[in-house]
Formats: sequence, C-alpha cells, structure tokens
Amino acid sequence: YAVAAEVDEEPIKPPFDITYTKLLINGEFVDSASGRKTFPTVDPRTEEVIANVAEGDVEDIDRAVKAARKAFDEGPWPRMSSYERSKIIHRFADLIEKNNDELAALDTLDSGKIYDQARLIEIPLVTRLFRYYGGWADKIHGMTLPVDGPYQAYTLHEPIGVVGQIIPWNFPMVMFSWKVAPALACGNTIVLKTAEQTPLSSILAGKLALEAGLPPGVLNIVSGYGPTAGAAVSKHMDVDKVAFTGSTEVGKIIMQSAAQSNLKPVTLELGGKSPFIICEDADVDQAVELSHFALFFNQGQCCCAGSRTFVHESIYDEYLEKAKDRALKRIVGDPFKSGVEQGPQVDEVQFNKVLGYIDAGQQEGARLLTGGARFGRKGYYIKPTIFADVQDAMSIAKDEIFGPVQSVTKFRTLEEVVKRANNTDYGLAAGVFTKSLDTANTLSRALRVGTVWINCYDIFDASVPFGGYKMSGVGREKGEHVLKNYLQVKAVMTPLVNPAW
Ligand code: NAD
Repeated sequence: YAVAAEVDEEPIKPPFDITYTKLLINGEFVDSASGRKTFPTVDPRTEEVIANVAEGDVEDIDRAVKAARKAFDEGPWPRMSSYERSKIIHRFADLIEKNNDELAALDTLDSGKIYDQARLIEIPLVTRLFRYYGGWADKIHGMTLPVDGPYQAYTLHEPIGVVGQIIPWNFPMVMFSWKVAPALACGNTIVLKTAEQTPLSSILAGKLALEAGLPPGVLNIVSGYGPTAGAAVSKHMDVDKVAFTGSTEVGKIIMQSAAQSNLKPVTLELGGKSPFIICEDADVDQAVELSHFALFFNQGQCCCAGSRTFVHESIYDEYLEKAKDRALKRIVGDPFKSGVEQGPQVDEVQFNKVLGYIDAGQQEGARLLTGGARFGRKGYYIKPTIFADVQDAMSIAKDEIFGPVQSVTKFRTLEEVVKRANNTDYGLAAGVFTKSLDTANTLSRALRVGTVWINCYDIFDASVPFGGYKMSGVGREKGEHVLKNYLQVKAVMTPLVNPAW
C-alpha cells in the first residue's frame, strides 16, 4: 500500500467554510421545528465532526410537504410555460457547474469519496443531468388518439404533484440530480430527505436552486435520519409519489408505508450483487483492471458494484495472481490527495459491517488472497480485500457487502455461469468481458439484470436508463424512462359534432 503511513498525517482541509447546515423549507433556510435540534456529520478520514446540521423530524417533513403542496396548488411552477421551467433548470445547471469544486469537496468531506472522482466525473455528470432534463422540460406532451365512434381523444401529461424523495450517501450529489432534475422537468414540487451521513452538498445545491430562480416551496430539503424524517415522507398522506434509493430492506418498508397511507406510487433503486463474468478468451491483464475497477470503485460502495467475479477456469490462476498484485498496488489514503485511489468507508456502521463480512468469509472457508483488515489507525479505511474460491452459498457471495471486498469464483461453461449469475435475489447490473460478439450477445440476453456492461463497467449517461430486476428495484431512473415516474396521464374525450369532418 503505497501511502500506508499517510492516513495518519494531518488531513487535507478544503479551502472554504461550511456555511449551509439548515433545512430548506419554502425558500428559506430554517432551524428544525424541534427546538433547534441538530445532528453531527462526521469526516470518515478523522472520525471527527465536520458540522452540526439541523435535524429534521416528522414536524419538519410536514412543514416541507405543506410548502410543496402550496407551491404546487397555487404557485407558478406547474403553471409556467415549460420553456420558462427549462430555462430555470438550465440556470441551475450553470450554477452547479460554477460551484463544481465546492460541491465535490463537500461530498468528499462527508463521505470519504475520492475528490478527483467527485470533481472530474460526478459533479460534471450532475450538471449534465440537469441540462439533459432542462432539455426535456418542453418536450413532454401527450398524444391524439384514434378512437371508435364520433369522439376526439387526447392525453395530457401532467405533473404528479408533491414528490417525496429519499437518497443515500454513496453518491450524494449524483443521487440528488437523478431524483430532482426529472421531477422538476415534469413540473412537480419536491420534499427531498438526504442521507444523514452526507447532508452538506444538497443544502448548498438548494441555495443554488433558489439563486437560479426556482420559486419558494418547489424544492424543499430536509436533513435527518431514516426512521424519523425518512419514514415521515413515505407515510405522509399528502405526498403524491415517493422515490427511494438505498437498501432493499428499507425499500420494503417504504413500499409498505406507501400502501398503508395513501397508496402513493413508489419507485425504488435498491441493492445488488452484480456478476462480472470474465470469459476464456479475455485478455487477462485488461480483465484484472476492469474487474478491479468494477468492485473497488468508490470504496466498493456502489449499488451496482461487480461484487461476484466469475472467472473461466482456464485463466483462473493467472487472474488471481494478477488481481492480487493489482489490489496490493491500490493506493489507499486521504481522498483529497491527488493520486489516491481509495478513501475511507462512509461511517463506522459501514466500516464494521464490511469487517464483519470479511470475518464471515474466512469462517465460511473462502481463501483470503490479500487485505482482510483495517488500514491505518484512524479513519474508516479498509485494505483492498480479495477472496478466492468463493462458493455461491457463502454469505460474501450472497449479501451486498458494500465495501472493498472482491469475491472470485471459477466457472466452466456459459450455461453454468448464466445459471449461477442469475441465482440471486438481486438483478441490478452485470459485466461481461469477452472478445466474442456471440458470447456477449448470449450473455447480455440471458442475464436478468437492468444493465449489462460489455467490456466496460460503471459507465453512466444521462440518457441511459438505470434500475433493477427482482429485488434490486422497481422502475427506472435517467433517460426518457424516468419521466413517467413523475407524470400522470389524463385522458380527455369530447364528442365530435360533425364526425364527417
Ligand atoms: P438505508 O437504506 O438505510 O438508507 C438510505 C436512505 O434511506 C437514507 O436517506 C436513510 O436515512 C433512509 N432511510 C433509512 N431508514 C428509513 C425508513 N425506515 N424510512 C424511510 N427512509 C429511511 O441504507 P444505509 O443504512 O445507509 O446502508 C445500508 C446498506 O444499504 C448498505 O450497506 C448497502 O448495502 C445498501 N445501500 C444501497 C445503496 C444503493 O445505492 N442502492 C445506497 C446506500 C446503501
């Protein structure tokens, strides 16, 4: 580990103060209703508090929903021309672009993600996404339909109303954009509950949204915990739709709450246990690099992490040797430091959960190739870890670990690997590494997942839909597909007085 000692050095400080820590309700930054209650957000590099943030609870969600309802029922947002809405969304994108580095730094401070990754890839993707949906705002329209009898029929695509959105901590600003941008483009108003680990960037983005001209109450942002503020969103009788990204376990709770309250429609983007399949014709060096990236990217904290590496038996031993070398070369350290590849896990809970799975892997008999322990003495750093000879029934092969732990297993035939890859409750993504077009075509059709990356991985584009089969989710985000999550379709029929014409 090239920078082994450096996590004990003084952490790099970004050159700005944390200014925005309050709730954004009805266009104003306010304290929480419950007597200025706050919660600490912690720097995972140092385990020290970065800032105390206003803690939203049931009452604050209710205030936010009332503001969003008023903005929807009486405000200009759903009524203004779609071109005006589009211009405001574009202005918001411009301001995100202008504040790119500060938003990136807040995400790194809060979550421990690599700063250069946030600065050069994630926040630019956020800007791109807002521009993409700014482009959609004035292209959402219904249809005129041919019908039997003397009638005219057409559809209106209307905003669904007050949208509740709950996001996780692994890609704070990216998740903000996947949720907020399409909902705004469709003319909805929003109550966003951010993850308790990573509230800071969204609050700054809220300030930028106001600066861009978003009317008060259209975007309300409440920081706080899941079982309190989050649950209040999914249970609320006046929230017309809820969109959630996070664990499958909480996804089930969200769906139940929606059913037990007002039957609000639910979209869910949940966990995964995605296979990465390396075929016998693969260039082993390239396969090692791509499968390493597929798993270790973002400290392994990706819903679509390629967390089950299937390697053809003919190249298995060579693969293991090279994958181990690559993991040993992975540079772990302060995520603000240029050249560092892996920062700390997001918090103590996740850190302990990942170490727990590493223990379980050893106890269940998988072969620990490298890593397997904490890295350094301070911060939630974990050594890049690889298990070989992983059996499908082991917990490390079945559960979402959400950490830098790669599980490698060998296979013999395509038929076998398809069966085993699909033998999971999840179905979010898959990677296929092969030189054969036939193999790529066969596997991409046979795998029961929402995204197949062939000879690439974790490539995201505003226009490409993302979501899961099975218990990885309900519905799709991004692209044109997400728009229908945020629209109602109204059918309108009128008689034709003179059908001959
Ligand atoms: P989580 O599902 O508990 O949290 C995600 C969001 O849901 C957060 O905003 C949280 O406050 C909120 N939430 C929690 N309980 C809630 C409830 N009862 N009602 C409404 N909202 C609630 O995820 P986590 O605890 O942060 O992480 C646990 C595991 O979830 C991870 O180890 C990982 O496996 C998975 N995860 C998946 C994703 C993803 O992108 N699919 C993201 C984060 C975590």
